[in-house]
Amino acid sequence: MKHFTLETDKDGIALITFDSPDVSMNVISPSVVEEMEEWVEAITNNAAITGVVITSGKSNSFCAGADLSGLGSTFADLAKLSAEKRNEKLYNELFRLNAVLRKLETCGKPVAAAINALALGGGLEITLACHYRIAASDNAKLKLGLPEAMVGVLPGGGGTQRLPRLIGAMNAFDLMMQGKMIKADKALALGVIHETAPGAKLVDKATAWVKANPDAKQPWDGEKFRLPGGGPYHPKGAQTFMGVAPMIRKNTYGNYPAQRYILSCVYEGLQVDMDAGLRIETRYFTKLMQRPESRNMIRSLFLSKQALEKGSARPAGQKKGAVNKIAVIGAGFMGAGIAYVSAMAGIEVALVDIDMAGAEKGKAFAQKELEKRVSRKKMDQAKADAILARITPTTDYSVMKDVDLVVEAVFENRELKAKITKMAEEHMPKDAIFGSNTSTLPITGLAEASKRPQNFIGIHFFSPVHKMMLVELIVGEKTSDYAISRALDFVTKIRKTPIVVSDTRGFYANRCVMRYIEQGMALLSEGVYPALIENGARMAGMPVGPLSLQDEVAIDLGYKIIKQTEADLGDDAFKGPTAPILIAMIEKYDRKGRKNGKGFYDYSEDGKKRLWPELSQFALNGVLPEDKQPTPAYIKERILYAQALEAARCMEEGIVKDPREADVASILGWGFAPYTGGVLSYIDTIGAANFVKRADELAKISADMYGVPDLLRDMAKTGETFYSRFGKDKKAA
Ligand code: NAD
Repeated sequence: MKHFTLETDKDGIALITFDSPDVSMNVISPSVVEEMEEWVEAITNNAAITGVVITSGKSNSFCAGADLSGLGSTFADLAKLSAEKRNEKLYNELFRLNAVLRKLETCGKPVAAAINALALGGGLEITLACHYRIAASDNAKLKLGLPEAMVGVLPGGGGTQRLPRLIGAMNAFDLMMQGKMIKADKALALGVIHETAPGAKLVDKATAWVKANPDAKQPWDGEKFRLPGGGPYHPKGAQTFMGVAPMIRKNTYGNYPAQRYILSCVYEGLQVDMDAGLRIETRYFTKLMQRPESRNMIRSLFLSKQALEKGSARPAGQKKGAVNKIAVIGAGFMGAGIAYVSAMAGIEVALVDIDMAGAEKGKAFAQKELEKRVSRKKMDQAKADAILARITPTTDYSVMKDVDLVVEAVFENRELKAKITKMAEEHMPKDAIFGSNTSTLPITGLAEASKRPQNFIGIHFFSPVHKMMLVELIVGEKTSDYAISRALDFVTKIRKTPIVVSDTRGFYANRCVMRYIEQGMALLSEGVYPALIENGARMAGMPVGPLSLQDEVAIDLGYKIIKQTEADLGDDAFKGPTAPILIAMIEKYDRKGRKNGKGFYDYSEDGKKRLWPELSQFALNGVLPEDKQPTPAYIKERILYAQALEAARCMEEGIVKDPREADVASILGWGFAPYTGGVLSYIDTIGAANFVKRADELAKISADMYGVPDLLRDMAKTGETFYSRFGKDKKAA
């Protein structure tokens, strides 16, 4: 065997060690399942073996779950089969793990899992098929959970059947629906595991348990088994299902099939025995894996995101390098966040502001965040102190003599940024990179102030920096591949997800998100109820409605951008209703958004908000009567189409070049409906021809919002998808 070793001691206890070669973590692949079938067969049939202990040879993982990397080609292969054959093939493939784990728990010999490290998804499911689970008490990184639903799949290795039988449906839903991960002590309290012990003693303790329990059986295979909390027809159990079904609907608006199927697996599975329950689970799993949501979510939220985090956008010929020290100039809202996340990642940070008080204030942000972590027991004091000590507040630019990179985050003012660039370059090493965090100013223009424009790049963070995972790297006309590569070194080191985009007004993410906000204004001007706009957007899968979002980013900021753009490009730079509405909100009503307690919403002191009752004034022909109000489905389409079309235009213009970047950024950057897999996956799933047909109809409302780029028309003719036309991995198309 390649992935497992089997050693039997003098008492006949077999120690199975999971330790796949050439990978950092153990994961479940088809070849792993094959070997499991081999050793389960061996322990069942070998009379000399009296019990089994399963552990891992890796210090970071017992097993991190299923290997999702092979799925791209699986989907492509399956697509060639008829529906019936596809169902059969998929069911048989997916059932293999269930079959082997069922065989393990009924092999007639006691089986214990010594969980030394992380056990997630299929990893935890292996242990759930053991009769006894003991986890390391001294491994801070040990987490247990079934996070499958987070990437659109379900725990298909018996998790939906064993976990509720072990800890009750309510607790099991709690872990499965939101992919919650728990530590060993919590797992013990919940009853997911039986015992904790120091890592060094795990195997001995597990072995002792196996020896002492020769007749071990799973609780559900015992005659007296009662479901904890009761099943669906038990008065108490019924309450759980009555509560969970609407809760899922409320949280997902029916957009996420994984959660709905998990509910069905548990509801149906708990009414039958384990063997039938496992078949039910695999049937739902088979169905789920053929849904576009699963394919798209796995691709964007797992595979593509992981590839981008590893620096897949690095230009050819550039090598990975270290980033040990940076300077952040401007210790305001953004600069303070950038300093904090950099120090967290082990980077020395000189935090520069106009005076010491400003610089200290920026450092105080890190201190506050670290204190929160310590008080929530997420970090110990010594570690927090070490992180804080990495941030040096200063006004002295000579500290930049040995930095790898500078991030400029001063006010959004071209002249000021030019001055700062010159001052920093006086001191920076010649090969260090200068990155501007500007949100609106073109990088090529800012680079004119630089002596070394080849080393000048945009490093665009999103706020709040410590929570938002996306960073856009903006390539100016003279930015070199070396600068892109070094900026990638920095972004990957601080564990954010980078995308590389070309220099354009609004770059990529803001350009698309503007289209979202604009839809809010457009629908308002068409006389749609504001509440319907906001709820329709949520039902489309957006995290907040467009009016809410405009309030959060501040209406006066939008106002300033409009004024600046009009100054740069002329009065007709903005088409449609957005500019007049935002201008009225500021100039007539001083409604700046949440920050001054009034915007599209009124904010009361108790934290509640209500839509401003005067919004009807923006309906150009009056508010539509009730029976003429559109359906939520129509709002959903309007909102998603407008954003997807802007992304398609960005692809056409070469602003983004890789569909993976466009998709991942849309989800991480502005929360584009994650179940779609992102803006371009949304179009690909509808199909270019259908999408263009519908967009042409919508263009009658506004050609500016819904005009179809030539690229998409061409794709509609050729039948291509973004992934087949631009994707690097043709198999995943
Ligand atoms: P801010 O006003 O909170 O901070 C700016 C900081 O720059 C202040 O601390 C100020 O004292 C300092 N500063 C001004 N002149 C300076 C000088 N000569 N030398 C050193 N420091 C100086 O602004 P912010 O929101 O952090 O924005 C900073 C930059 O980040 C802007 O370019 C903005 O467009 C961009 N940005 C902001 C956001 C956001 O959501 N706020 C998001 C992305 C990018």
